Amino acid sequence: MFSFHRSLASLFAFSIFTSLVAKEPITLSEVIPKNSLRQGHFWTPDEANLEMKALAKTWDDRASWERRASSIREGILKGLHWDWMPKVEGDFRPIIHSRKKMDGYFVENIAIQSFPGFYITGNLYLPAEPKKRNPAILNPHGHASDKRVMEDVQKRCAVFARMGAIAFAYDMVGYAESTQVNHKMPIAALLQAWNSTRVLEYLLSRPDVDSERIGMTGGSGGGTQTFVLTAIDDRITVSAPVVQVSAHFFGGCVCESGMAIHESDSHGTNNVEFAAMAAPRPLMIVSDGADWTRNSPRIEYPYIQSVYALFDAEHKAEHVHLHGEGHDYGYSKRSAVYPFFAFHLGLSYKRIPYDNGFDESFVTILPPDDLYVFNEAHPRPGDALIGDEAVMEYLGFSDDR
Ligand SMILES: [Zn+2]
Repeated sequence: MFSFHRSLASLFAFSIFTSLVAKEPITLSEVIPKNSLRQGHFWTPDEANLEMKALAKTWDDRASWERRASSIREGILKGLHWDWMPKVEGDFRPIIHSRKKMDGYFVENIAIQSFPGFYITGNLYLPAEPKKRNPAILNPHGHASDKRVMEDVQKRCAVFARMGAIAFAYDMVGYAESTQVNHKMPIAALLQAWNSTRVLEYLLSRPDVDSERIGMTGGSGGGTQTFVLTAIDDRITVSAPVVQVSAHFFGGCVCESGMAIHESDSHGTNNVEFAAMAAPRPLMIVSDGADWTRNSPRIEYPYIQSVYALFDAEHKAEHVHLHGEGHDYGYSKRSAVYPFFAFHLGLSYKRIPYDNGFDESFVTILPPDDLYVFNEAHPRPGDALIGDEAVMEYLGFSDDR
């Protein structure tokens, strides 16, 4: 009995010790080792072709791929310094207001707490006739100011809601209403992946969400957020990164490749493997002819297919290539994703008028002011940390560069 208590006491002392140690700031030069960054056009397409052949030789069956996927997952989390984040469970403190009745769906303005003093700003699109439990879809976005409230995001989320899903569109850090930090701040990749996890956990906490049917999709930088979260969190059950999965391009922004998620002493990889880590969960990649996804039919998708084959799940990895199109999440890309999500999340695409193509004209585009969550009547909470330095200091990062 005595020794039992003594070991508990020493465990307690140890945990106090480790939590004190964890509060010592860590410097950004330790967090972001420069020789471990794979950024932008890190490889040429020619190099990437050869690298993909070499990567394919690192696994030859399901067990060896799963070992590889698990070491990559660990590499991403270590590169992001995931364990540095405060242990927040629940405690979302949602601020929800301005419910608007639309044609077949509702829109609400929402903010949730990401961690104490940091807020995720967005909109919830809800079905007009919800079931007891509904699928949910995370909708991060790419790089454009006010992108969350722009037409393409509104249309996509409205269609998802009218088909029967609860769609959450949320700001990239530093964009639209997420003004507590600048976008190009050193730990943007960590903050965005953390925010996505908190959006996921908020959705899972809702009694009207079916935890077995959780989708995620975004274009460009939203595609990056989609394949990163899908790779590290198997609670995303269906994933559709759009115009971003590339063998040679690692993401041009600090929020995509500014932390050492692709390379460390124990791993070396690219975004194609991140996307393939969805296997065997349903995955759709959408590519086009005018950006870094132009080789997808020949390089990226065959690699992903060969991973899915290990699970006898070739039919769950879909690919739509639009060679005549460019880098956006426009109508034709949305039209590819709607029936994919409808099939795998149990949505009704018949609720969307169809005449030689999906008719999105039922969507009324709302002005940004109608979609902002923080305004005079609903101010941002007073505990909000303001500025890159304040946020990094709160999290225990010190900028020594
Ligand atoms: Zn970015």
